[in-house]
Amino acid sequence: MGITKTDFMRGMQCPKMLWLDKHKPKLRVIPPETQARLDAGNDFGDRAMGMFGPYEEMTAYLPGTRIPDKKRMAARTQEHLRLGTPVICEAAFLYYNNYCAVDILRKTETGYDFYEVKNASAVHPQFVKDAGFQYYILHRSGLKIGRICIVTHGEDESDPFVPVEITAEAKGYEGWINDHIWELNRMQKQPEEVYAEPGEQCLHPYECWYYGYCHPEAENRGFLTADLFPER
Ligand code: SF4
Repeated sequence: MGITKTDFMRGMQCPKMLWLDKHKPKLRVIPPETQARLDAGNDFGDRAMGMFGPYEEMTAYLPGTRIPDKKRMAARTQEHLRLGTPVICEAAFLYYNNYCAVDILRKTETGYDFYEVKNASAVHPQFVKDAGFQYYILHRSGLKIGRICIVTHGEDESDPFVPVEITAEAKGYEGWINDHIWELNRMQKQPEEVYAEPGEQCLHPYECWYYGYCHPEAENRGFLTADLFPER
């Protein structure tokens, strides 16, 4: 498999982080507050699927696991594109084995809009890059994309889904993605551990789950709090 959206974002934060994900994932230590935030984000994403009414969800798992079956999801998505399904959730695309799944893909008169759902009250810069990666994969897969929106978590809990349009900003990242994706593909497969000097990237934009591995001197990680990091 090539690079996923998560791989790309993690690899751009620190190449060693991506290499460890592929070769030594058991070294990860995910702080409980981070896991809770990820779980809340997944719940919010599930609720948002119906924001435009009836939809078809592409999620499929490898037999006996909770690991997404990316090839089957991508094949199902192509089938629903052929059928003209108006709203496709977890719409999956492969471009030279690089992969993304779009939270909500909505058919328009001229192509498709897509919506990335974030359980956050505002649009953070990372979210725009994240959507830029999805645009890169979809556009290069031949899909005509109109609007791109981040769905934020508004204050009205009876209708908390607030789309914020970021079309121009997200599309503007296409060249930057192409400049890095192929090197990340090569690097993640190399057998030798990637070297990276610990620094600012260990905490920003997200706390690294390998912090203890790269900072064996840090006995007490209690100073790392959720407040340091933007919502996902
Ligand atoms: S702790 Fe820092 S240097 Fe180590 S993998 Fe994470 S970001 Fe990279």
